[in-house]
Amino acid sequence: MTLNELLEFDREHIWHPYTSALKPLKAYAVESANGARIKLLDGRELIDGMSSWWAVVHGYNNPEINAAISAQLKKMSHVMFGGLTHEPAVILAEKLLKIAPQNLKHVFFCDSGSVAVEVAMKMALQYWNSKGRASKTKFATIRLGYHGDTWNAMSVCDPITGMHKIFSGALTAQIFTHSPKIPFGGVWDDSDLAELRDTLRKRRDEIAALILEPIVQGAGAMRFYHPEFLKGARKICDECGILLICDEIATGFGRTGKMFACEHAGIAPDIMCVGKAITGGYLSFAAVLASRDVAISISEGEAGVFMHGPTFMANPLACAAANASLDICVRDGYLKRVLQIEKILKAELESAREIGGVEDVRVLGAIGVVEMRESVDVEKIQEMFVGRGVWIRPFGRLVYLMPPIVISDEDLRKLSSVLVSVLKEISKNV
Ligand SMILES: *Cc1c(COP(=O)(O)O)cnc(C)c1O
Repeated sequence: MTLNELLEFDREHIWHPYTSALKPLKAYAVESANGARIKLLDGRELIDGMSSWWAVVHGYNNPEINAAISAQLKKMSHVMFGGLTHEPAVILAEKLLKIAPQNLKHVFFCDSGSVAVEVAMKMALQYWNSKGRASKTKFATIRLGYHGDTWNAMSVCDPITGMHKIFSGALTAQIFTHSPKIPFGGVWDDSDLAELRDTLRKRRDEIAALILEPIVQGAGAMRFYHPEFLKGARKICDECGILLICDEIATGFGRTGKMFACEHAGIAPDIMCVGKAITGGYLSFAAVLASRDVAISISEGEAGVFMHGPTFMANPLACAAANASLDICVRDGYLKRVLQIEKILKAELESAREIGGVEDVRVLGAIGVVEMRESVDVEKIQEMFVGRGVWIRPFGRLVYLMPPIVISDEDLRKLSSVLVSVLKEISKNV
């Protein structure tokens, strides 16, 4: 198959994320990827600024993760998890519970981030059902959130700026309060919690759980909010008898400079979702961690069991990849490297502030964001990036970097300087 044949078939028959079947955005064909580099079929090599959507933290073609998967492949690639168990799953659960907030004691493995959110929401409903509080069926959340593309996950995504506006008539109407206004590093003011406090107090009999992304609102906004907001939210949930679900799918495993973003606020959720980087970005996989109280209450309820069990639950290949990935995450240098990346991003992206059309520049951990005043032309800007040897995929008004943690200083500087120079060029042409 020639490159042109491949691209043509792709264009004619294959859907890509959030694209039209009639007028798809241009897709680039990849030959291979290694470390922080993606090699295109046409021979060009790109420095990766996306970690394939938060996931590939230890780089592509990582020798340790490759070896772990190969070794597991020789034993078994999959067995059902109903009535069977295996070492890769048990070791992974042990590793997760060791690094997660200490109140979390039970692990549910599932297929993807969105499914983890569905599972967490079902846990919250079964919890209150068990306690004889069946009226608690709603979820509260903050605006500008993103929790995935499946049905109930969509219902807690931002209803207006979110990507799911079109479905709102068919979705369960959940309870939204404003997005935190005070940024990470800003001066805290308790009034930022007023609406949340008010809403949760008033509607505590309806609300099963508050679900939010801790500290970083990712795909919905790329915003970083003040840890006191999260601390306060935890307190309000306790006071009102509402469970707290932290969606750490994007933030987990070091991306923000802490292993989990809730550590910035020193709080522990009742239920926590992890995904994306859990396998080092090798396979689709996720986990939901629950407190002892949640697990016991569900198990003492009417059903006596937690009502979920996917076919590929605890897939051994994914567990093996995750075990190798977590070994790297807990090594000495790993979180330190995230902080070095933060420093470099802060220094390199600062000059973007001066560019016309730039609204804000912000950096937290290994996430660098340039927010524009107007939406960018994705196809055009992406062509400019690829032409200059980097892989950056903006959405809406947001042009951002979240490189693999293994990226070299040199590649990171190039990535940042290309981002800045392309924005400069675009601002001249408008
Ligand atoms: C990506 C993401 C999800 C959905 O995960 P998928 O694996 O794409 O289903 C959910 N929540 C957050 C915060 C995410 O960033």
